[in-house]
Amino acid sequence: MKIAVIGSGIGGIATACRLAAKGHEVTVFEKNASPGGKMSEINLEGYRFDTGPSLFTLPELVEDLYTASGETVPSAFAYHKLEVLCKYFYNSGENLVAWSDQKKFTNECVQKLGEDPSNISKYLKKASLIYKITADIFLFNSLHKAKNLLKFSVLKSLLQVNKIRFYKTMHGDNIDNFKSPLLIQLFDRYATYNGSNPYKAPATLNVIAHLENNLGAYFPAQGMYSIVKNIYELALKKGVTFNFNSLVTSIDIKNKKAVGIKVGDKALAFDKIISDSDINYVVNNLMDHPHKKRFNRLEPSSSALVFYWGVNKEFPELDLHNILFGGDYKEEFNKLFQEKTIFNDPTVYIFVSSKLVKNDAPANCENWFVMVNAPSNSKENWDELIRTTRQNIINKINKSLHTNIEDYIEHEKIASPLTIEQNTLSKGGALYGNSSNSMFSAFLRHPNFLNSVKNLYFVGGSVHPGGGIPLCLASAKIVDNEIPAK
Ligand SMILES: Cc1cc2nc3c(=O)[nH]c(=O)nc-3n(C[C@H](O)[C@H](O)[C@H](O)COP(=O)(O)OP(=O)(O)OC[C@H]3O[C@@H](n4cnc5c(N)ncnc54)[C@H](O)[C@@H]3O)c2cc1C
Repeated sequence: MKIAVIGSGIGGIATACRLAAKGHEVTVFEKNASPGGKMSEINLEGYRFDTGPSLFTLPELVEDLYTASGETVPSAFAYHKLEVLCKYFYNSGENLVAWSDQKKFTNECVQKLGEDPSNISKYLKKASLIYKITADIFLFNSLHKAKNLLKFSVLKSLLQVNKIRFYKTMHGDNIDNFKSPLLIQLFDRYATYNGSNPYKAPATLNVIAHLENNLGAYFPAQGMYSIVKNIYELALKKGVTFNFNSLVTSIDIKNKKAVGIKVGDKALAFDKIISDSDINYVVNNLMDHPHKKRFNRLEPSSSALVFYWGVNKEFPELDLHNILFGGDYKEEFNKLFQEKTIFNDPTVYIFVSSKLVKNDAPANCENWFVMVNAPSNSKENWDELIRTTRQNIINKINKSLHTNIEDYIEHEKIASPLTIEQNTLSKGGALYGNSSNSMFSAFLRHPNFLNSVKNLYFVGGSVHPGGGIPLCLASAKIVDNEIPAK
């Protein structure tokens, strides 16, 4: 079959590899000049930055992609398990190291935060149970196929559905688990891993703690973009054709069947079409979608304001992942989702890949990716917001790290919800499609196919099962299962 893939985000490339390995003739159309979408890289005067994802969990899904494509992971793609998941700096002056080793992490929480050790082990066991109950239903299968819902494993999971605590919020559940407000804040933060609000998102999402704390966080030896580079190479090896600088302007549908696409004015016929484009863009720009009104009502996930700084000094107190927490987390999320602005004491994330990838910065220097959560764009005054937030971030860094960071920033580039939207066509620059700020979110995400239009499939972070690298790879697998070999 001749198959078109719209978009070369990680979900699109992964699907292309799988379908080409089955013997199909796969062509990817990408509006940008290079692959990766949100997961790209920039080079700035001797500094290299991953532009988007920095946290890598469930690496076995990348390995699974190679296996499904009939290949083994190349030795060039090495990755390592992190010993330190993250360093946390609190407003009140406390610092905490989140060790990957649970005994060490527990000791740290007991000594520095006075937490009861059994609260930590109970919590992580519960997170593991949520994963066990939900993975098969919500992550690795379509939610929209009766035959999946009737599987024995799924029916067994449904009997335990009260244990996934969908009826509570993440924050509500965390308050019930921990004594220390600082630890509650630490675990609340996991809501931001899919662009949501811990005061609204269901406690089922506390499963994210399982991925990071029980299964582990990893980092590729050559940085995050090497994931894209390697699977792009894999796709080429499997015979996939890539057309860059090629914006798809419509999906052509005849008699309830997708029959082709338009690239500019040129109509091209295909047997199957896979969209890795943000679903909001598809619904509003590429087709006459049967559920357009309903999808347009859903709340986008948060976006980000990122400063890529070439810093000509080394900071031994920082690790690969670092968080400088804001002082009023509830207000921070209220500003983000209700007032659609950025709090003046925001939580600041600093990711320094040069801690592990030495070539990412010149000698004695570091490449800082400094990010705060931002509302998806709805016509805010971004120039003003970027200016004030930059100053608030600098003040916070100076206070937490006892420095004057501006003296050391020698190069700067900025990504905002506006530029993320322009570069990737995701609505308002949302990082993860729609938010998970309701207990029904998993069911409201766009399915991987439509019953009313044949030969059309959807992958990537804005559709089922959700945003982030592992879930995009899972979406590729779900779509692959829908399309037989030639
Ligand atoms: C700042 C930031 C931080 C993040 N942090 C993390 C993290 O730490 N861990 C994690 O797992 N995830 C993280 N994410 C989310 C993660 O990057 C995304 O979930 C994932 O990369 C989305 O992949 P995708 O397959 O949906 O495609 P996208 O990356 O959204 O790419 C879609 C591609 O399709 C192209 N396209 C769209 N429409 C068309 C069209 N009509 N014609 C041609 N081309 C089109 C776009 O140009 C783009 O290249 C982060 C994202 C950002 C931006």
